[in-house]
Amino acid sequence: MQTPDISRAKSAELFEKAKQYFPGGVNSPVRAFKSVFGTPLFIERGDKAHLWDADGNEFIDFCCSWGPLILGHNNDQVREAVAAQLGKGLSFGAPTALENQLAELIIENNKYIEKIRFVSSGTEAVMSAIRLARGYTKRDKIIKFDGCYHGHSDSLLVKAGSGLVTFGETSSAGVPKAFADETIVIELNDKEALRAAFAEFKDQIAAVIIEGIPANNGLLMQSKEYMHFLRAITKEHGSMLIMDEVITGFRIGFEGASAYYEIQPDIITYGKIIGGGMPVGAYGASKELMACISPDGAVYQAGTLSGNPVAMAAGIAALTILAQDDFYTNLNAKTAAFVQDLRQYIAEKGYQVQLFHVASIFWFAFTEQEDIKKASEIDPASMESYKIMHRELLNRGVYFGPSGYEVGFVSAAHTDADLNTAKKHIFDALDIVFQ
Ligand code: PLP
Repeated sequence: MQTPDISRAKSAELFEKAKQYFPGGVNSPVRAFKSVFGTPLFIERGDKAHLWDADGNEFIDFCCSWGPLILGHNNDQVREAVAAQLGKGLSFGAPTALENQLAELIIENNKYIEKIRFVSSGTEAVMSAIRLARGYTKRDKIIKFDGCYHGHSDSLLVKAGSGLVTFGETSSAGVPKAFADETIVIELNDKEALRAAFAEFKDQIAAVIIEGIPANNGLLMQSKEYMHFLRAITKEHGSMLIMDEVITGFRIGFEGASAYYEIQPDIITYGKIIGGGMPVGAYGASKELMACISPDGAVYQAGTLSGNPVAMAAGIAALTILAQDDFYTNLNAKTAAFVQDLRQYIAEKGYQVQLFHVASIFWFAFTEQEDIKKASEIDPASMESYKIMHRELLNRGVYFGPSGYEVGFVSAAHTDADLNTAKKHIFDALDIVFQ
């Protein structure tokens, strides 16, 4: 039976006010809770794995600000590093030693890039990586995969048309058709489609871009074999392979999905975790490729707040913890045990749910299908079950992303007690979904 709803009176009042100021009342669309029940919760504070909303409701958080908070909320070291920098100034628009420190920490611990450039968001990182690929190869077209999200730049707000290999159709008003015409969209896990795209446009393809592990439209695990095929075919045709590690970078491990698949991409993009919760993105590549970036080279890219000292301080503090021995072993083992217990309950009850999982990322898919590798394999109707689970979890104090296409994240701050409490509530929520 549905549990009584938690009070959302203050959140509802704030949302009404927000609608006067912002389109849809929000500054990023998914926050509007359009895909789940009720008004969005206005969050007041977070500590460790917990969130509190404006009505004083407490939640165990599995959204973790959409991935950046791998250390949880209000981490002591990150907070102290930010506080120490605050007294020295917020922004200089000039180089700082902090940028060097964060770059050194990353490059010394990541064999897949030799040079890096900091920007302020994942979107900016990807947009710049595409420009670098185009500038280096002197080609215009890019291939992206249906179901991968790479931020909201024009070249990437495109969706598949019908057919094996299609020029993208814009997925947002305001994207010129000419941009979409330069983006070819194909399905994931389809070698034939990749071969066909290269056969048709061989000398025109600047880059293929893929999420390290696609995690924006469910968790669509690709096989190692397919990823190596992708690496080989791009190399064969002189196209860049851009691994978008905005989610997977520093999440799957310090060296992200590149290490997971043992693939050397040409360009890697980062965001989210890299800034320790502050707005930072980055792209990195070999010295040769990065020499194309201004002021060394002809590919222009700049940013007033790039390498912002407060954000760098947060990133250094966070990544210093992540670079410690056993950080990922412990976090991933904790997540695996959590997922295992959930799977066992689901199996015992015979519920039609799959729990996909890698490292500290998980995704509930309400389906019988045990293997989902393409966006087209997700049944939109299954999202109705997610909506119910989401409502029931919020009512029990567990915060999941407000859409069934979103993955969940476990942080180092989730204690065994948090995970046990969350499990119990997830069991109860699933019982209601399938009652
Ligand atoms: N690339 C990937 C894989 C992402 O998941 C996201 C955001 O979710 C982006 C790029 C865009 O990053 P941002 O939202 O920081 O602009």
